[in-house]
Amino acid sequence: KTNIQNNKMIERYLTQTQFSSEEDFREHLHFIVPDTFNFAYDVMDEWAKEAPDKLALLWTSERGEEVKTTFAGFKEQTDRTAAYFLSLGISRGDKVMLILKRHYQWWLAMMALCKIGAVAIPATHMLTKKDIVYRNRRASVKAIICVNDEYVTTQVRQSVLESPTVEVLVAVNSMVQRDSPVPEGFHDWHKEWPEAPAFVRPEEVNTNGDTMLMYFTSGTSGEPKMVAHDYLYALGHLVTGVFWHNLDGNGIHLTVADTGWGKAVWGKLYGQWFAGATVFVYDHEKFTAGKIMRVMEKYRVTSFCAPPTIYRFMIQEDFAKYDLSALEYCTTAGEALEPAVYQKFFNLTGIRMMEGFGQTETTMTLGTFPWIKPKPGSMGKPNPQYDIRLLKPDGSVCEDGEKGEICIDTSAGKPIGLFKGYYRDPELTERAWHDGLYYTGDIAWRDEDGYYWFVGRADDVIKSSGYRIGPFEVESALMTHPAVVECAVTGVPDVVRGMVVKATIVLADEWRSKAGDALVKELQNHVKHETAPYKYPRIIEFVDALPKTISGKIRRVEIRERDNR
Ligand code: ATP
Ligand code: MG
Repeated sequence: KTNIQNNKMIERYLTQTQFSSEEDFREHLHFIVPDTFNFAYDVMDEWAKEAPDKLALLWTSERGEEVKTTFAGFKEQTDRTAAYFLSLGISRGDKVMLILKRHYQWWLAMMALCKIGAVAIPATHMLTKKDIVYRNRRASVKAIICVNDEYVTTQVRQSVLESPTVEVLVAVNSMVQRDSPVPEGFHDWHKEWPEAPAFVRPEEVNTNGDTMLMYFTSGTSGEPKMVAHDYLYALGHLVTGVFWHNLDGNGIHLTVADTGWGKAVWGKLYGQWFAGATVFVYDHEKFTAGKIMRVMEKYRVTSFCAPPTIYRFMIQEDFAKYDLSALEYCTTAGEALEPAVYQKFFNLTGIRMMEGFGQTETTMTLGTFPWIKPKPGSMGKPNPQYDIRLLKPDGSVCEDGEKGEICIDTSAGKPIGLFKGYYRDPELTERAWHDGLYYTGDIAWRDEDGYYWFVGRADDVIKSSGYRIGPFEVESALMTHPAVVECAVTGVPDVVRGMVVKATIVLADEWRSKAGDALVKELQNHVKHETAPYKYPRIIEFVDALPKTISGKIRRVEIRERDNR
């Protein structure tokens, strides 16, 4: 049974709002799709009318700042922001890059761009000048709104020399240092924003098929790809926030994600506001599990979502030091969650983590919905928004237990939530999406109860002595050993076997001094004991940290490249 009762916003967009079983959900999840849907007007502003005093955003920072904004407050502030953008010459269809970290203004900019029909391109602050030039040119970016931080503004300013389409630069200070001067060539948000004229809603803002948002993928397997989403994408996330995060109007939800990662719109905006929940933001520079747990305690966060990597570090903490009694619901996605992590977190908190699977290209695609009992290590079951197929390389359909690629059947049309394509890259789009099927590039199998189990990215699957070995299974086996905090399993080329299995391992602090042959043997025996022995890692390397994307995903490709050199 789900939480929501009498939620007017959800009733407006779904033919049925209460579901009590998986079958019920599969049969009766139907969207009511308006002729033109615009999240900012149709959800955020509507909440402002219906529940003006409801808390939309609770923003805090590690500098001790705190801002609480109601839906009414948000309507007013985003109207002002939209007017400000119009005054800068930004209008419908213009591409606007947002490099705003977790600054409060990211939410204003996202909603304001939606209100004027301009396209938001959130990006990470780690980009170099070269990365920014690439994005500016690929997307014909017209304006860049970025944090007023020396590194970022320098990269942005230099990028403009090689980006003929960029006309407008805006620098945004943190809430504390409002008055720091902005570099030459930049508009000063804090000076100009309060002076913005009254907002007049443009007559025509968007159609449902227009591009609303573009995100780059994480770049886990190669160069990030530019994903274009239409206006209905936001509607698709109703399921993410209401039925995966299981939020209602009383929830305070924290998703740990940089705003430059697609996960930010999964967990920090659309779905949460459909539910009428409060989005909790902690604007911080460097992640530590302890810091996050301290703010969760202080602000009584009820619902938490983070990629597995964050939980792996949380379970190393002393939970007795934190009061997380307000926490009710925890979710994870972005990478596979090892059962050992699930179990330890459950032992510490009594909370069963609900895993989900999806991509920048989609909304939540497979997931553990409230009425599904989680099986540790499984991603859950299909979201009925999508028609999921598991396909073998020859195109035939997998039986239960057989491994295949997770595909979305689009022969009946593009489902709500699925991307439009890779922007200005029809070839790449065609490679992933053809003949009525979108190929996710991820391999999984389904058990007889309909649960899906992740095997690995197609590129990460190891072919050794005629076996196909999924890294996740070996990693899961290693994770049950107390010495292992994190690990990545990859294939190393081998003349005899084609590939041999290698594990790159980060050890727990108290085990570091024991790194050596004896521990290698012990871990190898441990894997042989936990899973079929042919999968054990013949090579083990101990490292201080694994190569990761900004979203915290392990880049196995980087380990492979290093080993191939
Ligand atoms: P790139 O496409 O640039 O290589 P990426 O695929 O990591 O990067 P994202 O769109 O952020 O970029 O991530 C989607 C991918 O994350 C999925 O295709 C899948 O490989 C992985 N993923 C997401 N959720 C899960 C999960 N629950 N279990 C295993 N893998 C997951
Ligand atoms: Mg991808």
